Amino acid sequence: MANIKCIGILTSGGDAPGMNAAIRAVTRAAIYNGWKVKGIMRGYRGLIYDEIEEFKTNSVSNIIQQGGTILKTARSQDFRTPEGRKIAHEALLREGIDALVVIGGDGSLTGAKIFAQEYNFPIVGLPGTIDNDLSGTDTTIGYDTALNTIMEAVDKIRDTATSHERLFIIEVMGRECGFLALNGAIATGAEAAIIPEISMEKDQLEELISNGFRKSKNSSMVLVTEGEITGGAMAIADRVKTEYPEYDVRVTILGHLQRGGSPTAADRILASRMGAAAVDALMDGQRNVMIGIQNDIIVNVPFSKAIKKNKPLGDGLLSTLKVLSI
Ligand code: ATP
Repeated sequence: MANIKCIGILTSGGDAPGMNAAIRAVTRAAIYNGWKVKGIMRGYRGLIYDEIEEFKTNSVSNIIQQGGTILKTARSQDFRTPEGRKIAHEALLREGIDALVVIGGDGSLTGAKIFAQEYNFPIVGLPGTIDNDLSGTDTTIGYDTALNTIMEAVDKIRDTATSHERLFIIEVMGRECGFLALNGAIATGAEAAIIPEISMEKDQLEELISNGFRKSKNSSMVLVTEGEITGGAMAIADRVKTEYPEYDVRVTILGHLQRGGSPTAADRILASRMGAAAVDALMDGQRNVMIGIQNDIIVNVPFSKAIKKNKPLGDGLLSTLKVLSI
């Protein structure tokens, strides 16, 4: 067993529902095993500006059902510099923190990987992001809740889309990763998803329209992933207006409502399992790994594999959407 007496925990990057359940699980599992826990506020920024407090079991009472993160989160430019990371390391030594649990997305785990190498410091990561864009794990904390939020919103848009016989382009989050758009489209019976993974290969809008888009329907909804690769909903709608003016097109950008809300049961359970597994991993002497889940089994994924781009889309998702949207 590694010689750890006290661990620090922080949330970093974009917030995701279920982060609180993960904070609770890490805190309780660590205390159960006889360790001290220190909560670091505002991600890496809190390390640099010394915003650190001791956590007891009741510091994490009554939070499992809350969205957001009680530790707050931030994006820290300072931590991207060697000088900033040096200050962070000094804070860890001063606070007597022997290991860190970092909950965040690919940027946060990239920072963790660099810091762990630079200072030979034990860090275990948890995948906390609604985008589901980390490799080596089937799903990430927050993804299921965001998907359900999208589903509820798109169901409502469908009512108005049908009444007015309109084409709705609905933008969802995900950046370089199409999971939310693709599974959101399947869950809502949408016509199609325009996603970054495919945008690089072909013109999805052109294909959609040339395949007889909307022939047999009196309304249509297309989900599109935000970001530069797809161009986002506004750019797609502008193209429809110019190239296919016969369609009455409308845009909805779901935006930050996708990040909020009480986590689903699936996210609470995932976060609880992963949080407890992070402590197990540190007890086993593991370091520089992200906790993942594959086929319902908890796994340890080296940071370098977790932050690899181009996570494969789920098996058959694209063809399922295509077949079911005729
Ligand atoms: P989300 O996917 O929800 O946006 P994220 O963790 O990817 O979350 P980022 O803003 O990319 O969010 O990263 C969070 C923080 O991690 C950054 O503000 C920075 O402090 C740290 N970080 C990211 N990349 C690096 C890097 N290359 N070196 C050092 N620190 C980094």
